[in-house]
This record gives sequence, structure tokens and C-alpha cells, in this order.
Amino acid sequence: MIVGAGIAGLAAGFELLRQGYENFRLLEAADRPGGVISTGQLAGMAIEEGPDSFLTEKPAALQLCRELGLGEQLVCSNDAARRTWIWRKHRLRALPEGWQMLAPARPLALWRSDLLSWSAKARIAREFFTLSRAPASETSVGALVRARLGAEVLEVVVAPLLSGVYGGDADELSLDAVLPRLAQMARQGSLSRSLWRARRRRSAKAGASLPLFTTLRNGLGGCIAALAARLDSRIETGCRVLRITKSGEGFQLECRHSSPESPAGRILQIHCCRLILALPAWAAAELLQELDGELALQLAAIPYASSLTVNLAYSPAPPLHDGFGVLIPPGESLRMRACTVIQHKFPARVPPGRALLRVFYGGARDPEALALSDEQLLALVTAELRTILGLKQPPSAAHIRRWPRAMAQYTVGHAGRLQRIQAALAGHAGLALAGNAYRGIGISDCIESGYAAARTLLQF
Ligand SMILES: Cc1cc2nc3c(=O)[nH]c(=O)nc-3n(C[C@H](O)[C@H](O)[C@H](O)COP(=O)(O)OP(=O)(O)OC[C@H]3O[C@@H](n4cnc5c(N)ncnc54)[C@H](O)[C@@H]3O)c2cc1C
Repeated sequence: MIVGAGIAGLAAGFELLRQGYENFRLLEAADRPGGVISTGQLAGMAIEEGPDSFLTEKPAALQLCRELGLGEQLVCSNDAARRTWIWRKHRLRALPEGWQMLAPARPLALWRSDLLSWSAKARIAREFFTLSRAPASETSVGALVRARLGAEVLEVVVAPLLSGVYGGDADELSLDAVLPRLAQMARQGSLSRSLWRARRRRSAKAGASLPLFTTLRNGLGGCIAALAARLDSRIETGCRVLRITKSGEGFQLECRHSSPESPAGRILQIHCCRLILALPAWAAAELLQELDGELALQLAAIPYASSLTVNLAYSPAPPLHDGFGVLIPPGESLRMRACTVIQHKFPARVPPGRALLRVFYGGARDPEALALSDEQLLALVTAELRTILGLKQPPSAAHIRRWPRAMAQYTVGHAGRLQRIQAALAGHAGLALAGNAYRGIGISDCIESGYAAARTLLQF
């Protein structure tokens, strides 16, 4: 039995089928599979209400799409037009080319940029030439960057980049859990020097570099639809698991099955021997309370941030800045976290003469944004886009989607929590966990977690 039909649960089911195991069910509380992956329609264009693409360098999502027969629909980000803007001191400034999340890999590009002050640039130059002390074994991203590169780099560049990807607060997120490769570089010495060297090694190697992002022409919903078709009647939507208890050698699941005809639903009892919970950690914690209080406690300790997307369609397309979009540092007097210009990032998604923007609000620092009404949000986004992009034209159509408690936050202490969860799980043969709470929040990470959970249970 699999509970949760987000990408992690669907991937677990797909792996079971691949391994020749056909006799299972997938219970999903919502009326559709996919979890936060949800493609909709706005003004005749496919829009992404949740994620819009996956990182190409992590291969699981790409391979899954190919296995599902979607290879022809894969489209890459238009990296020739890749440029990120940062809103700082009342205007847009380009993120220096080659910036790698925490530090620059191209010192010259940084030198020429107007994003950071001369004192911040001097601080980075010092880090480049200094034998830096290794960070403490468990530290936050913010603490490392502040100590190495200074508060300005943290506030102006690193905080908005991290917030864009994780919806998180740099002072809370664990360096090792969120950016393990950069954490290792920081242990070996100067971060900016290591990144500069790594870039030189890459450019010395022949061969084209991979595009940064990949997606499906008509939206990531295509991957969910293809998975759902493979899993077919094994998926039961409208089925919310309410509690899990031990029953003999297996588990007893109490569920509420609802449908449009019977919204109040009926209560069902389901027995199973093997169980994958592909749920947000807080949801798994609620279900496991009676089965194992300690496991539930550890799962509940993984915090989540909420996020909100606003898709805005324009026809005709207004004049817009080049580049993939804009990030807003937390210290600026705007609530928006980021804005993506879809026709620049994925030109195949937007017909000529039209424009599609995707704006993010919320995140760990502004959970209250989700409480704003649609009218308040539309007024806010219109005013903020006018400030940032000089956009006076109102959108021809808009779509808002709220995602409460959707983004797991790997805060300092995450590795210890994972160990304790693993130790508690060892006492429950036949139970496995998957999803974005554990070893990566990206789509490919969640797919891998689903595969791993399925393989674990097949060995049981
Ligand atoms: C706005 C947003 C943008 C993102 N952008 C990107 C991006 O561009 N690229 C990228 O790689 N990643 C992105 N991510 C992250 C990535 O999309 C997610 O981490 C991933 O899709 C989570 O998948 P999941 O299966 O772990 O969880 P979910 O998608 O949350 O699925 C969990 C499922 O469990 C169900 N469920 C919950 N409780 C119960 C219950 N009691 N009984 C039955 N079912 C239950 C839910 O209804 C849901 O369908 C983004 C995330 C968000 C929120």
C-alpha cells in the first residue's frame, strides 16, 4: 500500500510495477494525483501552479519522462537568454554571470557587476586568497556566508537565491543538508577559489554543457497523467488516511473515502502488510501518532514553509526585461519573492505576441501571504510589478494557487533528525517513507526517494 500520490508516491508505484509487483493500491486524499505538481490552463496557455521544471543535471526526472514515452515532449530552458535580475536599491541589477548559489565562480564578472558594493567585492577577494577555517560540522548557510563573505553577500544574493529554491530562511537552513557539495568545498578552503577552479576544469573539458532546466512542452502535468495511466485503477483519489495502527504482522489504515456524490465520505478499514508513506512529514507524523510516538515526534520536527504562485497572462505582450526573471532580497520593501518570465525561460510554452509571468509569494519569512484574499493579492502583484518591471498594462487573466506547508525545510539538525527517524523505522518492518522531507526537495530527489522506498519494501 502507498499513501500519497504526489510524485514520490507515484514513482514508488512505478518502481513496484517495473519490478514486476502488481498487487498494490495507492491512496490519495485529493481528487487528483500529482500533489504540488499541477498544470492548469490560463488564457489558452498551459500554466504551472506548482513546480515548472526540474534540474537537468539530476537525471531521475528526465529518465522517468523518457521511460513514460514523453521524450519528444521534453524541452530545455533557453539558457542563451539566461540572466537573473536582483531588485536592489530601487532598480534591477544583474546577478553576475557564473554565481553559484553561495559565491561567484567568475571573479571578473563580479568585478564588473553593480550588484554589490566595492567593500563586499573586496571581502569576496579576501576570501578567495585566504586560508579559511572549516565551518562547524553543523551550521546554517547564513552563518557560513556571513562569516566568509559578509552580510551584504548573504542579504543581497544568497538569501533571495535560497528563498527562490527552498522557500527558506538562510539563517535556518542547514549547510550540509541543503548544499552538500558547497559544504564540502567550504571545508576544503576558500569557496570562491574552489568554484572558480571547478569552472575552469569544466570549461577545459570539451563538450556542450547541459541546459539548466528541463520541462515538458505542455506542462509537468503530462508526467503525472502518464504515471497515472500506468498505475491505472490502483490509484484511489478522494481517500484520506486518518490513522494507522499495528495489526498483527502488518498495519491497519482507517480512511475516509469521499466523492462529489458523497462529500462527507464513508469510513473504511484497510489492512496491509507493507506500507509506503509518501506524504509531507507533518502529515505522516499525524497518522503515526498511535503507532510510534517517537517516530511521529521526529517527523513533526521537520518544518515546512508555505508558498503561493500567481500566473499572469498578457496579450499583447508588454515590453519586458530580458532574462529568466527577478529575485527580491528579503530586506527590500516588497513582499514578492521572485518573478519568472516564462516566455524567456521556456519560449515553447508561450505563443508569439503573448507574455506569461509567474510570481511567488510566501516562504518561510512570510507565511501570512497565504491569508491574503485573491483581490488583495492581485492588487499587490500589480503594484509590485509596476515598481519592479515598470509594467503598467493589467494582465488579461490571472490564476492564484496556494500551497500551505508544502516545502520541507532542512534546518540545522536535519541530519540528526534523519538518523533518529531511521532508527525508529528500524522497529517497523514493512514501513518506508518517501517524499520531499528527507534527502532533497527537487522533483528528481522525490522520484529517487519513491524508488528507494519501493525497493526497501520489496526486500522485506
Ligand atoms: C510552489 C512550488 C514550486 C516548486 N518548484 C519546483 C521546481 O521548479 N522544480 C523542482 O524540482 N521542485 C520544485 N518544487 C518542489 C517539488 O515540486 C516538491 O518537493 C515535490 O513535488 C513534492 O512531492 P511529494 O510527492 O514529496 O509531495 P506532495 O506533492 O506534497 O504529495 C503528497 C501527496 O500526499 C497526499 N496526502 C497528504 N495527506 C494524506 C493523507 N492523510 N491520506 C492520503 N493522501 C494524503 C497529498 O494530497 C499529496 O497529493 C516546488 C514546490 C512548490 C510547492
